[in-house]
Amino acid sequence: MLQKKKIAIVGGGPGGLTLARLLQLSGADVKVFERDLNRKVRVQGATLDLHEESGLKALKKAGLMDAFKAHYRPGADKMRILDNNAEIHFDDHQKKPMEEFGEEHFRPEIDRGPLRKILLESLNDGTVVWNSKFQSMQKFENGWELVFENGNTVHADIVIGADGANSKIRPFLTPIKPIYSGITMIDATIYNSEIESPKIHQLLKGGKIFAFGGEKTLIISSKEGGEMSFYTGCKKNENWLKDCGIDFKDKNQILEWFKVEYAGWSSIWQELFSSEKTTFIPRPQYYLPLDQIWETQENLTIIGDAAHVMPPFAGEGVNMAMLDALTLSESLTNPNFNDTKTAIEDYEIKMLKRASETTQLTLEQTASLHSKTALKNMLEMFNQQSID
Ligand SMILES: Cc1cc2nc3c(=O)[nH]c(=O)nc-3n(C[C@H](O)[C@H](O)[C@H](O)COP(=O)(O)OP(=O)(O)OC[C@H]3O[C@@H](n4cnc5c(N)ncnc54)[C@H](O)[C@@H]3O)c2cc1C
Repeated sequence: MLQKKKIAIVGGGPGGLTLARLLQLSGADVKVFERDLNRKVRVQGATLDLHEESGLKALKKAGLMDAFKAHYRPGADKMRILDNNAEIHFDDHQKKPMEEFGEEHFRPEIDRGPLRKILLESLNDGTVVWNSKFQSMQKFENGWELVFENGNTVHADIVIGADGANSKIRPFLTPIKPIYSGITMIDATIYNSEIESPKIHQLLKGGKIFAFGGEKTLIISSKEGGEMSFYTGCKKNENWLKDCGIDFKDKNQILEWFKVEYAGWSSIWQELFSSEKTTFIPRPQYYLPLDQIWETQENLTIIGDAAHVMPPFAGEGVNMAMLDALTLSESLTNPNFNDTKTAIEDYEIKMLKRASETTQLTLEQTASLHSKTALKNMLEMFNQQSID
């Protein structure tokens, strides 16, 4: 099916790169068009925990488990659940033994940078075309002519959109737009956290913190290279970002906002806003309708956040993106399918069903963690898991 076909994947995140690797293992002609200027651009954001039945399953099929084991961070999955006064109610460091691959609840953590590096190094030279911000495309013969912001144009027989939450490929498949979830997060990275945020750094102990109070969340993760990332989660209306008047480049303005928004929280948390070098990114959270569907095309589809963005409160986004890559690669290389439309339809049926179930679960979890009983809900969930 893929012989003599040029495949263009737009977006070199975990979904797009995993797909490129899996397709190349089958001998397909694949290029990834990524807007980042080059591979050295730092990949920011919270760490990712990969799940056995999705993210790790895709890595196994990609033959990259040894590389993953060399780069994941043992112990970084250890979690503490705290209240707004920084009192610890659940502590993996006290009870959780070091877990092993293959164990039911083991969800090894990896930073985004090393995950991208593993995937990039697995690809044939020249697979990723950097500095290629997709702008638009039009049908050309049996494929597509893609136009990039740098002025380049490229012809492809099959296009796969892996360009994340604000996908520019998605509208070529469906007019269905993401729906605001009611939660806006502020995502931040602190460099040299031992010096810049010593009390929280100590509390974090190289793992993760989930803190709850007043229907708000604060989730903190340790990262490699002495970094720490965190994100706040609050109920806000969709226009808050536009209307709030905060300059997100000014940490003092964000600290003032935090003091008011998280009134009643211990002042220890304010340390997170003290470093001059911290970068803050506001992220309103969206999801897609559970019953979304579109007419399958023979030479175009989408994977990952482009297909089913969702808030991160169930930790499924990257895992779903990598599992989409696995499912799509299996469909496109299935010898029982005679044409790409049947193969893409097979993938889309499986992907949309899975995305619907995962989005439902994620929305329930998002509501639970931003409710008055968030702490109790989370403790019940993890105490039950320890008993299991
Ligand atoms: C703060 C935060 C915490 C999270 N925590 C978790 C977690 O713990 N666990 C989890 O599973 N998920 C988590 N997620 C979600 C997870 O990050 C995403 O679901 C995952 O990255 C989706 O992968 P993707 O490859 O589909 O898209 P992305 O990772 O968004 O990658 C898209 C790629 O496309 C590129 N791109 C975008 N537009 C264009 C364009 N026009 N042209 C060319 N290239 C383009 C981008 O530069 C990027 O490289 C979190 C998200 C956030 C914001």
